Amino acid sequence: NKYVYDFAEGNKDLKDLLGGKGANLAEMTNLGLPVPPGFTITTEACKAYLATGREPDGLAEQIEAHLESLERGMGRKLGDPDDPLLVSVRSGAKFSMPGMMETVLNVGLNDRSVVGLSRQAGGGTDSAASGGADRFAWDSYRRLIQMFGKTVCEVPGEEFEHAIDEAKRAKGTHNDLDLDADDLRGLVDAYKKIFAKHTGREFPQEPREQLDLAIRAVFESWNAERAVVYRRQERIPADLGTAVNVVAMVFGNLGPDSGTGVAFTRDPASGAQGIYGDYLANAQGEDVVAGIRNTVPLQELERIDKTSYDELLGYMARLEEHYKDLCDIEFTIERGKLWMLQTRVGKRTAAAAFVIAGQLVDEGLIDLDEALHRVNGAQLAQLMFPRFQLDHDFEPVARGIGASPGAAVGKVVFSSGRAVELAAEGEPVILVRRETNPDDLNGMIAAKGILTSRGGKTSHAAVVARGMGKTCVSGADELDVNVPAKKFTVGGHTVGEGDIVSIDGTTGKVYLGEVPVMPSEVVQYFEGTLDPEQTDHPLVRAVHRIMSHADAMRRLRVRTNADTGADAARARRFGAEGIGLCRTEHMFLGDRRELVERLILAATDAEREDSLAALLPLQRADFIEIFRAMDGLPVTVRLIDPPLHEFLPPLEQLAVDVAVAQERGEDVAKEEALLAAVRRMHEENPMLGLRGVRLGLVIPGLFAMQVRAIAEAAVEVVRTGGSACPEIMVPLVGAVQELETVRAEAEKIIAEVVGDSGVEVLIGTMIEVPRAALTAGQIAEAAQFFSFGTNDLTQMAWGFSRDDVEGAFFWRYLELGIFGISPFESIDREGVGRLVRIAAEEGRAARPGLKLGVCGEHGGDPDSVHFFHEVGLDYVSCSPFRVPVARLEAGRATV
Ligand code: PEP
Ligand code: MG
Repeated sequence: NKYVYDFAEGNKDLKDLLGGKGANLAEMTNLGLPVPPGFTITTEACKAYLATGREPDGLAEQIEAHLESLERGMGRKLGDPDDPLLVSVRSGAKFSMPGMMETVLNVGLNDRSVVGLSRQAGGGTDSAASGGADRFAWDSYRRLIQMFGKTVCEVPGEEFEHAIDEAKRAKGTHNDLDLDADDLRGLVDAYKKIFAKHTGREFPQEPREQLDLAIRAVFESWNAERAVVYRRQERIPADLGTAVNVVAMVFGNLGPDSGTGVAFTRDPASGAQGIYGDYLANAQGEDVVAGIRNTVPLQELERIDKTSYDELLGYMARLEEHYKDLCDIEFTIERGKLWMLQTRVGKRTAAAAFVIAGQLVDEGLIDLDEALHRVNGAQLAQLMFPRFQLDHDFEPVARGIGASPGAAVGKVVFSSGRAVELAAEGEPVILVRRETNPDDLNGMIAAKGILTSRGGKTSHAAVVARGMGKTCVSGADELDVNVPAKKFTVGGHTVGEGDIVSIDGTTGKVYLGEVPVMPSEVVQYFEGTLDPEQTDHPLVRAVHRIMSHADAMRRLRVRTNADTGADAARARRFGAEGIGLCRTEHMFLGDRRELVERLILAATDAEREDSLAALLPLQRADFIEIFRAMDGLPVTVRLIDPPLHEFLPPLEQLAVDVAVAQERGEDVAKEEALLAAVRRMHEENPMLGLRGVRLGLVIPGLFAMQVRAIAEAAVEVVRTGGSACPEIMVPLVGAVQELETVRAEAEKIIAEVVGDSGVEVLIGTMIEVPRAALTAGQIAEAAQFFSFGTNDLTQMAWGFSRDDVEGAFFWRYLELGIFGISPFESIDREGVGRLVRIAAEEGRAARPGLKLGVCGEHGGDPDSVHFFHEVGLDYVSCSPFRVPVARLEAGRATV
């Protein structure tokens, strides 16, 4: 088995075997770019090691052979006392994975080769350079012990930090650079003691042993707890393994003619073309990351070292041309010689993703299909939130995790109760907590945004806020939150209750005071108020172009969930091709509640018929408005679904009111009747109770009234010159007999109302009860269409209460990696998705051409849209704001 590849033997398509970093190093090597020589140990070797607990046969010899050829190429031997070759050992999996061991630099240094390194670096020639060279060598050695100790042997990193702080204190400085060679020699001794104390052994002096231990540590880091959880959450397969890259060291800290930097071939923030990056003279990569000294803009390098600068620019252009995408690059200059240490297709903001994809099409590097691959619905959704206008003077005071996107401004409060109070007065509030828990739920509902100082993307605050669509920044750990004292401090500022803050749930940034919010240009474009042909706004033009292509490509239709004419009209502007779910229960609220109450309490047929007759014209008017807004596009109207007691006052409240009134001797006959009804209708599990189709079967005339209102509305619209395509949908069906019964009654009414008006009304059902999915073949005999109610289907397939779980325990499930994303947010393909697949197949087998759609929240979720495309649905339906996201993803699913 071949376990080790020289960089010259690999290429960028071998990421499975060589990991991302190794594959790209190989690619650059083969492009002729100056990559320090090295080799990659494959993921296969890692897998074999993890399976058996030891290096596979032949690996040691292959490493030896590649090391020898590396030594020959460099003219130096690993750890040679006189003239040492040093290497770095870097992990590199197929997907970049925080939580794994990353890098050990300077492998090959020991008590003897440190002297050789000093000589190599110029020691012994003249005294000034010698001081510098000595310092450099001892600094390199202490870095090795530190990194090796921490990442290979799990020595607590703080111990090393303390020791270096101690050395600086003794010297009376805060700057690492003030430590001279003697100080660093002392520090090496201190580090070695720390190492021995924690590992029970001396720091290994044998270079090859250092190398082998580092390689083994990289293998083992694949199964580190953080890595395991990260993979579960991100749904990265657990059996990929990581590769290990062994690379000859080059040094950016050998003097003013050396340095290190990062570069982007375009601006990763805006997508604009140009030179972007940072450079730090006389430094190593980790100094840039640690932010010890300030970097200069990459353009400065032209002044410092024009030859290297021009060379770098040439390589950047080459890489872009070759990868046909934005690349990010790490490089080092060692005494005027440029080395390319890493490249990859670079991360970018949502706006840059669209802009760059558009530019690359213009430049002829990619076609429009490929442009669709380069963007996604989550990015588009981000671009549709309002954003902060940060032109002048707003510096964030803290940065946390962008846990739920949006821009929120409001008065700071520290308790749920206060949030509710202030919000009731009409004040926008930001709820600030260390972390949230289920007791904070009401405050979170009342707040415009949530800010916590602890917790990540899967903390309670983050999960619940996302579920509510509320802006949230979590884990802003620079904030010192003191809830009892109602204040927090950050960077020397103290912020108390009532002070205004602004939080950006996309970037995680926190600002003091009120940052102005501006609407999204992308929404203006979708609304039709910004003409892409007229504007020179690069983002809007790019979005327009890519959306047009998505629309041209997609097979899935996109409808919207809307219950009002206004929502329907907006969704149409956003590109909706009909209504997939019009929930009629919202039409029974407000001043109509009284009529519904009368219906529920009706003691006689006559009373009931009276209240239904009063509701009929109101419903008819609702539908006329919606059919007109959709003018000829299909409109799926769902018959009433929730348990009727949702329209009555809550039991406890009513009981108290009645008791109080009785006490006062008031006439409470009516209230008592109401209370008796509420008691009678009380259910322990209302979501599994008298709702949906069951209402239609139990309450005479209710569904009939709705069906009549729909049919009459359609006839009215057609009579006045419009066009209407109603589809009546029955909720919560679990057995074909339920649907047949409702349908027989409905068809009679429709035939009577429609007459020869030419109106056609379809009758179909939701598939949202597992039994319906499993008996879809039978149900299809009675249904002209299916619409998957994936909210209830998820609730009933998992047995999770959709109204409670997110706050109650999902955060823990996410933390444990039981699922990477809430199954209410993104379809659970294996379980709930399987029910959808079965129902689609068996439904179509029974009734070829059966129209299939989905109207649960998943209809607007990017990953779920791809799934619905794969299983052959005809359309997805989602909230108006999600319509563009669904259009884009439906297009992406085809390319
Ligand atoms: C569903 O259950 O997926 C659905 C669309 O209906 P509702 O959310 O109204 O229960
Ligand atoms: Mg439902």
